Amino acid sequence: MTLSFDLTSPQTRAILAANAARAAEKPSLIGLTREEMADALGEIGVPERQRKMRVQQLWHWLYVRGVSDFSEMFNISKDLRAELDRHFTIARPEIVEEQISTDGTRKWLFRFPPRGAGRPVEIETVYIPEEGRGTLCISSQVGCTLTCSFCHTGTQKLVRNLTTEEILAQLMTARDRLGDFPERGTPDGAIVPAEGRKVTNIVMMGMGEPLYNFDAVKKALLIASDGDGLSLSKRRITLSTSGVVPGIQRTGEEIGVMLAISLHAVRDDLRDMLVPINKKYPLKELMEACRNYPGLSNARRITFEYVMLKDVNDSLDDAKELVRLLKGIPAKINLIPFNPWPGTNYQCSDWETIERFADYVNQAGYASPIRTPRGRDILAACGQLKSESERMRKTERLALEAMMIAGHGED
Ligand code: SAH
Ligand code: SF4
Repeated sequence: MTLSFDLTSPQTRAILAANAARAAEKPSLIGLTREEMADALGEIGVPERQRKMRVQQLWHWLYVRGVSDFSEMFNISKDLRAELDRHFTIARPEIVEEQISTDGTRKWLFRFPPRGAGRPVEIETVYIPEEGRGTLCISSQVGCTLTCSFCHTGTQKLVRNLTTEEILAQLMTARDRLGDFPERGTPDGAIVPAEGRKVTNIVMMGMGEPLYNFDAVKKALLIASDGDGLSLSKRRITLSTSGVVPGIQRTGEEIGVMLAISLHAVRDDLRDMLVPINKKYPLKELMEACRNYPGLSNARRITFEYVMLKDVNDSLDDAKELVRLLKGIPAKINLIPFNPWPGTNYQCSDWETIERFADYVNQAGYASPIRTPRGRDILAACGQLKSESERMRKTERLALEAMMIAGHGED
């Protein structure tokens, strides 16, 4: 059974919506660098000599304690809190919907106010709990400019890039809902112990191509990995790209997180069809960029994602070519059973075919885990995310359920 519920009564929702509308008119402090935050404080009259200390306090409240209201910042004077509240917001997005899958996967639909970036947008974020860790799958854009033929997001036009605040807000709001910030009222300075965390890893694998929103993604990931704040280790942050070659080197140099490449095909003619950005940056250039990825080593491998499409890219010849292509690159291969969506012409490979493929790659010396599809019942699996404007009509949902029952793409 899937749980899906409205979080609030109509009255409370109206109040929340009104608050959100008011907050939408003010700039958010979330997503600013320390320097930008100091400048923002300067603009509301905080004297220069105090700014560094104030930024430190705010940083702690926002990113260690996870507060979303200035009134909770009790070591900041009442007057300054009121002034901050008059000019800025630290409010979370509206949670339109929260769904919990039978396997514990959660999916949220967040609504962000326009904040000068056009109209309000809605996006989905997914949390996948596993033994010993919990991974949050974050979106970088609403829709995508690319049109990978097996990806549901790819059928939706780009609505807009997400801002740094919106990227971080997905992590912070998920942590709110999971009870992953320190309890209010614990002694000042309390930090959630790393081993007790619900969100231990983040992957930029939601909607959108993160390297086409490089600056906002970079800022968000640097804040997420800041040791005095959200403190996620860069080794537990993975950025997945369809192969935007010029952004790959920059990711290693300027962000320093783990890299995943959506490979999916080992020949240019097929990859041109599956991942059309290949026409711009063909395999040779992509592999060259991977070989040169800063910080690459056996301890810091690149993950190559490979979606298993029946009779398209799943033969043993493909597996052999894959091994040849990756020669010399510290790599692991993530085999993703294709997740179906209404209107797609692809099917997931048979389980035996996936296993045969995995065995071959494994014997060639590469770890090649088969990704267990998670949260399919709430359409939270890879490639199934869409935004509100494109959410499925009921008839489409029923069609999809029928497809799954018929066994397409089942494991
Ligand atoms: N745009 C980035 C990150 C988001 S997609 C990228 O393409 O890498 C995250 C992963 O899910 C990618 O590897 C993508 O190719 C894969 N994916 C997309 N649609 C899928 C589907 N229907 N079934 C399985 N995997 C899919
Ligand atoms: Fe965009 Fe990634 Fe989907 Fe391709 S797979 S359409 S790059 S989100």
